[in-house]
Amino acid sequence: MDNPVVPLRALANYVNFSTFAGIAIARVGHAHISHGPRGLWYAEGYSLPFPVAGAFTVGNVIITPRSIAEIGESAVAHEERHAWQYTVCGTLFMPLYLTAMGWSWIRTGDRAARNVFERAAGLSDGGYLDVPVRPLRSLFQRRVSC
Ligand SMILES: [Zn+2]
Repeated sequence: MDNPVVPLRALANYVNFSTFAGIAIARVGHAHISHGPRGLWYAEGYSLPFPVAGAFTVGNVIITPRSIAEIGESAVAHEERHAWQYTVCGTLFMPLYLTAMGWSWIRTGDRAARNVFERAAGLSDGGYLDVPVRPLRSLFQRRVSC
């Protein structure tokens, strides 16, 4: 049975312009764009070197340098959870995501392990490892060498 709020996600991500941004990014990256299920768009064959990712999502657009078949169902499920995050956060998603990515890097040296958005989307589905946190004081200790 289809989730009755999926059309609301699609509408919300058009209204907050994130899906339009995703389509624009996909076009700049020369991706082949097609309709996916549940109001998603698939953008395959993305050719730009940034961001470095097997796939990423902007609004309802799942963008990958490979094909959707190659990244697999669990990665698509992970990316679809990011589409919901755009619905909740709107235009604030990207700055919030970048802040969470920075926090994760500070705490673990990994951009995803303590990123609240990646954890909520499912680390393993996104191909990420759960890296242990490092003590904050280790960041502030000066190393003195002679
Ligand atoms: Zn992710």
